Amino acid sequence: MGSFRTKLLTYFALIAVVPTCVAFYGFDTFANRRETQKVDTRLRADVRFAVAGYAQEIGAAERRATPVPITVAIQRLLVNLDPRDTLVAVRNGEIVAGPMLGNELPLAPGLPAEVDVGGHEFRGVLSSALASADGMQFAALARQSELDAAQTSARLRIAAALVAAVLGIGGLIFLLGLSISRTLTRLIRATDAIARGEWSERVEVRGHDEFARVGDAFNRMATQLEQRVVELEDERRRSREATSRFADVLAATHDVDQLLRVVVETAVEVTGASGGVVIGPDTEVARTGELKAGGQVLELPLRAARRDFGTIVLAGENFDDATREAAVSLISHAVVALENAHLHRVVERQARIDELTGIANRRAVEEMLRGELARAERFGGDVCFVFADLDNFKDVNDRYGHPFGDVVLSVFAEVLGETVRDVDIAGRWGGEEFALVLPGTDAEGGAAVADRARRALLHREVRSPGGDVLRLTASFGVAAFPACPDSEALVAAADDALYLAKRAGRDRVGTPDGVLAR
Ligand code: GH3
Ligand code: MG
Ligand code: MG
Repeated sequence: MGSFRTKLLTYFALIAVVPTCVAFYGFDTFANRRETQKVDTRLRADVRFAVAGYAQEIGAAERRATPVPITVAIQRLLVNLDPRDTLVAVRNGEIVAGPMLGNELPLAPGLPAEVDVGGHEFRGVLSSALASADGMQFAALARQSELDAAQTSARLRIAAALVAAVLGIGGLIFLLGLSISRTLTRLIRATDAIARGEWSERVEVRGHDEFARVGDAFNRMATQLEQRVVELEDERRRSREATSRFADVLAATHDVDQLLRVVVETAVEVTGASGGVVIGPDTEVARTGELKAGGQVLELPLRAARRDFGTIVLAGENFDDATREAAVSLISHAVVALENAHLHRVVERQARIDELTGIANRRAVEEMLRGELARAERFGGDVCFVFADLDNFKDVNDRYGHPFGDVVLSVFAEVLGETVRDVDIAGRWGGEEFALVLPGTDAEGGAAVADRARRALLHREVRSPGGDVLRLTASFGVAAFPACPDSEALVAAADDALYLAKRAGRDRVGTPDGVLAR
């Protein structure tokens, strides 16, 4: 602000004060000259009158033949003169009549000049031609102080006019400066407000001048800024929401396929792509939005340390560096979650599978049994539970070694798995003991399944490492719901039935109604 005022003052000095001083000097010189000329013209007229008057006086005197003394003649001549002027008669450069008698008057004829007469300053004009044969000349004198007073008064008038002009111009410039300064202050205030983040701030636009155009441009800029800020905040909110949803799903889901769907949907949302697809190692796994041709394509591999989940392909108009970075960061989190989900699936599978034989373990069998019993209790129907135990398995171990015993266990598991339906489950209960859960099957049906398995094992050719053909047999114990009301009763009854089959000589099926004949 200060500097603007200084500038304004400087401009004021340049456009008002300096020219005014020059003008004053010019006008003053001109006025002085004019006042001098006025006096000179008057004095010349005086002299002309005096000379002409004197000639008449002399003419009249000659006619009367009585000369008129010069002082009397001057008295008469004075009547026609300007009262401010003094008339003297001069002979040979000396005043011979009129006031200041006897003084020298050093004037050249016809040339107005300043003279000092008797200690007083005068401006005087001397007649150019001799007025008469007596060598008389006339001079008109005006007091220099009179001329000075006229010049001073003219100077004062000029000075007053110029001061008024300067004051007028100064006032105008002050008003102009005030208006500019107010407009600038409004603009500065609005700019400060925008800088503080008050995006709705606008300036009032008045008129059509350059300041109005600046104000208008400012308002348009502020509107665009406000829109951009709203867009950015919207974008940021969407991205935050997508990220938080994404994080929730990552944490909650262990299903790799579902995760891949969420990953591609979130990636499309975060990057503003029109669509995206996850291409697994073999086929397309998930797809969202529209994959328009002609735009840009962003390919992001979904590769973990030990596993390749495929590639995400995003299609969109334009992906800038920030968008690419956001997508890469998203994918890096997604890959960790995918790896976790995969490991989770492996662990979950391991928790339900018997490691040696690859069929369900005891926990899975018990879960299945509980589930089927609950379903049968609610909707009715049968559930059959069967124990299967290799006969004299200890001997196999003893004769051929424990590792070969493991092979035999696997063979038995395979036989059981091949015997049961898809809806049934065959699992290892522990050691060389196996179990079957047969939903919708009563004791009789279960006994038939057990007997089929028994015969299948009997006819399965198994060779020892030494080449011996083994004759493997197993005994079975069958129990069924609803005769046995819960899992404990079922397990106990199946165990009892198995015991009966062993007692009856092995390679048999024990049922609640006794041991089946072979
Ligand atoms: P039975 O006809 O009365 O069932 O006689 P068995 O010898 O089969 O029964 P027993 O319960 O006396 O012996 C079971 C044997 O199974 C004892 C154990 O060494 C063996 N066994 C248990 N689990 C495993 C295993 O995981 N691998 C091997 N190789 N043997 C096992
Ligand atoms: Mg046993
Ligand atoms: Mg046994």
